[in-house]
Amino acid sequence: MCGTPTPDDVGMREWAFRELVAQNTNLKTLHHYKLVWSVPIIWQVISDHQLTMIEQGRLRRQFNDQISIMNDAFVDTPFSFYTSDIVYTVNVDWFTGMVHDDTAEEAKGALHRGDNWALNIYLAEVSDLFYGRATFPMDLARDGVDQDGITLDYGSLPGGGNPNGGEGDVLVHEVGHWLGLYHTFQGGCLDDDIFPEVGDGVDDTPAHDLWVSGRECAPSQSCAGLLDAPIHNHMNYTPDSCRDEFTEGQIERMIQQTQLYRCINCM
Ligand SMILES: [Zn+2]
Repeated sequence: MCGTPTPDDVGMREWAFRELVAQNTNLKTLHHYKLVWSVPIIWQVISDHQLTMIEQGRLRRQFNDQISIMNDAFVDTPFSFYTSDIVYTVNVDWFTGMVHDDTAEEAKGALHRGDNWALNIYLAEVSDLFYGRATFPMDLARDGVDQDGITLDYGSLPGGGNPNGGEGDVLVHEVGHWLGLYHTFQGGCLDDDIFPEVGDGVDDTPAHDLWVSGRECAPSQSCAGLLDAPIHNHMNYTPDSCRDEFTEGQIERMIQQTQLYRCINCM
């Protein structure tokens, strides 16, 4: 469903992030200020043929629906989203090749627009391997801004038809990654307090193991043996129809990651 890999150096990253948070005592928090941060979206439409006016019109309606879904999902956060630009690119190799790292690197290097705060969304045919894949804010320092962004399968757009992933919540999940969130099941049942570098780095998401808690929308076990695995959380792997929340801890993490790595104007 989601093709966003856990970074190899996640332990070092988490340590560095916590150090920065401790040093920057002036970071804004959810409750400290009334924050409003608008994220410009650049839709990078990659196709294998010149799209007809009808096809472009259908896509624009899906983009509008997707923006509404995102703004609903992030309503309790400082983040909102708007369409800044739509870029059409015909390239047969990129259309199906975005699943491969080298092809994705080439396409993003050629197409990416804007700065760290511009959200480039590359639409392509990738559902054989994943519905969506994102980069993290901390990837920017390593890979450069032109490799930043989200790759999304056309079928993940609202009404796109991907099973368990065609209601527009795939992009909500991927934007969670883009703003610095990991999966709620990252690190499985290793204790967050003992191994803070392997969990999701958020205190109010119960630790769970995906193999135990599963992908169904039914109450399921967390690592404490309770029926409280976060099945409704956007950063879990339950179906689109089941996911509708970010926790306060996740929102605070997105706010911190944004200020430290992604948006200099947000400090
Ligand atoms: Zn994911």
